[in-house]
Amino acid sequence: MEFLRPTSLAEALDAKSAQPDAVPIAGGTDVMVELNFDHRRPAALLDLTRVGELAEWTVTPSGTRLGAGVTYARIIAELGDRLPGLAMASRTVGSPQIRNRGTVGGNLGASSPAGDTHPVLLATDATVEVASVRGTREIPIGKFYRGVKRNALEPDELITAIHLPAGTGPQQFSKVGTRNAMVIAVCSFGLALHPEGNRVGAGIGSAGPTPIRAVEAERFAAEELSWESPKPLTDSVARRFGELVAAAATPIDDVRGTAAYRRHALSVLARRTLTWAWKDYARCA
Ligand SMILES: Cc1cc2nc3c(=O)[nH]c(=O)nc-3n(C[C@H](O)[C@H](O)[C@H](O)COP(=O)(O)OP(=O)(O)OC[C@H]3O[C@@H](n4cnc5c(N)ncnc54)[C@H](O)[C@@H]3O)c2cc1C
Repeated sequence: MEFLRPTSLAEALDAKSAQPDAVPIAGGTDVMVELNFDHRRPAALLDLTRVGELAEWTVTPSGTRLGAGVTYARIIAELGDRLPGLAMASRTVGSPQIRNRGTVGGNLGASSPAGDTHPVLLATDATVEVASVRGTREIPIGKFYRGVKRNALEPDELITAIHLPAGTGPQQFSKVGTRNAMVIAVCSFGLALHPEGNRVGAGIGSAGPTPIRAVEAERFAAEELSWESPKPLTDSVARRFGELVAAAATPIDDVRGTAAYRRHALSVLARRTLTWAWKDYARCA
């Protein structure tokens, strides 16, 4: 197996263009598992760990540009205040070892519906920046996921960064698993309040072939919440929001849980996270 080791983004894009079947490897926490189990035997690996451009994050006029190779440990340590929802999701990923290696670019590259960053990226209106020798393009997160472990990347493209708009309201992430740590989500949920537009973002994980945006639930909550002079959230609004989130999911029965359990758990996660986020918003409004 060839092991390509570019030291700049330009070199990495040249290598991907010359060998589109080369498999990128960032933290390796998904790729190495696949190699170890012989699920994949690529002709070449494209090591991205020496590409400094991918490991940077910067503040932009509209928010944060997060390099695809920034690890979960760094998001938690450096970006908890700017990207609270993503930091919450990052804290639930794997173990300290996995968080030291694993990256959001890798989570997107793998595109598993169970990946923990996806619900938050959907709820916060993230954009995925991808590049090739042909140029750079930005893909709205809702158009990135194309099926189970499939995404909108062309064979010669790499994920270079994730753009996250500056959050103006509280964000939440919640995950159900069979235990508290080192667990693949049975289902998960990300929520963001966007008071600048009186909007709510709601993303569902591990309950469908791709991560899903709960559009009806978002609309319902945006209309029902008293943005200008916040009143306590009523039980009926919280419950209806939970029901609409559960209705947006398309889960299956599998070894981790039944479809019915996932729908029920999602309605609970949605209700709780909306209650927590709204309390935070009302306190600061
Ligand atoms: C023990 C264990 C526990 C885990 N727990 C969790 C968990 O709790 N939650 C969770 O979401 N995940 C979990 N994972 C899965 C994994 O850690 C995450 O998906 C992680 O984000 C992968 O990042 P990485 O940098 O290691 O990716 P890699 O393994 O390097 O790559 C993953 C995929 O993305 C592609 N890729 C990587 N970077 C790029 C790029 N810049 N451009 C294009 N393609 C790219 C690779 O080719 C590959 O297909 C766990 C894995 C292990 C082994």
